[in-house]
Amino acid sequence: MNVFQLKPRVCFGENSLDALKELKAQNAVIFTDGFMYKSGTADRIAATMTGCGQIKIFSEIKPDPPVELIADALRFLLDSNAELAVALGGGSVIDAAKATLWMYQKKTGNKLPLIALPTTSGTGSEVTQFSVITDRDLGMKYPLYSEDMLPDIAILSAELTVSVPANITADTGFDVITHALEAYISTKANDFTDALAEKALKLAFEYLPTACKNGKDTVAREKMHTASCLAGMAFNDVSLGVNHAIAHALGATFHIPHGRANALILPHVMRYNASLETTGYGSEVTPTCKKLAEIARMIGLPAQNARMGASNLVAHITRMSRELGIPQSLGDAGVTRADYLSNKAHILKNAAKDVTALTNPRPIDEAAVEQIVKGIEKFKA
Ligand code: NAD
Repeated sequence: MNVFQLKPRVCFGENSLDALKELKAQNAVIFTDGFMYKSGTADRIAATMTGCGQIKIFSEIKPDPPVELIADALRFLLDSNAELAVALGGGSVIDAAKATLWMYQKKTGNKLPLIALPTTSGTGSEVTQFSVITDRDLGMKYPLYSEDMLPDIAILSAELTVSVPANITADTGFDVITHALEAYISTKANDFTDALAEKALKLAFEYLPTACKNGKDTVAREKMHTASCLAGMAFNDVSLGVNHAIAHALGATFHIPHGRANALILPHVMRYNASLETTGYGSEVTPTCKKLAEIARMIGLPAQNARMGASNLVAHITRMSRELGIPQSLGDAGVTRADYLSNKAHILKNAAKDVTALTNPRPIDEAAVEQIVKGIEKFKA
């Protein structure tokens, strides 16, 4: 039996922040980061929570939240007597809030409601049961996974994303594309998740360039916010693939932002997954190659046959990534050859055993990861 389940109530569009007025609690907590706090957005959100008494704000969350930060956030939550929590920020804030509430539940037996307000259009964390936490000592990112971490309400207010700078818009937008593509070709993909992934890809390929070039374009921002959420719903059900496995290993080792790490390796993973490295007459046409060709057709790329479609999709992704300023190699991303070589074995090992690689359509081991990462092994002289 297969099950497809949708949980969070998703409030979206104009006035979606009004959903905050319906929250009722004597004590509540807002988890956020320094930017949202200093810009006054956290106070504005607190002022909208008119049904809540005392609201405390924890604004210490940093990108790629480390284990120690979750311990601090848990202490803050335990001291607050909160009856609900709001997460206001990008994937790092939402993930940190999810992990904190999960720890709180384990410690007290009490499951607090979580309301997620994403301020980037990227991770889809507002609708997933994942939380990615970093262990800095071990140089690893851990995707935690539990149905208990699914937020109760997701509020998609695109106005919260207009302040995202162009480079972060590009990074996070590529995270959306990667989520949708990996869900679409996951070994667990099904008709429900394919529908979500297809719409997410249609929106992201159309609106990401505009959102990057003109961050004030509210239509583009809204479409990207929707795309991010749809892609989140898709991968929440069928997981991801080796792209994320490699991005986690690169991110934890070299502190490359998550979306950028995904974008950097994406064309190389898609070439590998579609088996495009075999060339010539009679080369294998795999089911993954056919699915990628379907996406190429959907966005209007030439795809007279499956290999042509999949190749054109990879070329389109590469072109778009270059145009939006995404680094094309580890060297472009600021990694030196010496640093890479001293960490390479660690990266290959961690990527091959990352849980997201389990649903990759082509089998993954360290040799496969090595073959894929060759594509980004260029360094500055
Ligand atoms: P992020 O949350 O780390 O934020 C990146 C930067 O953008 C931060 O400096 C932040 O302050 C800033 N920022 C956020 N919103 C802003 C706004 N509206 N205006 C201006 N600046 C803003 O980035 P992210 O890509 O959203 O999240 C990445 C994290 O999420 C990683 O740890 C990644 O592993 C994780 N992740 C989780 C899931 C999941 O399902 N839980 C999926 C993918 C990635």
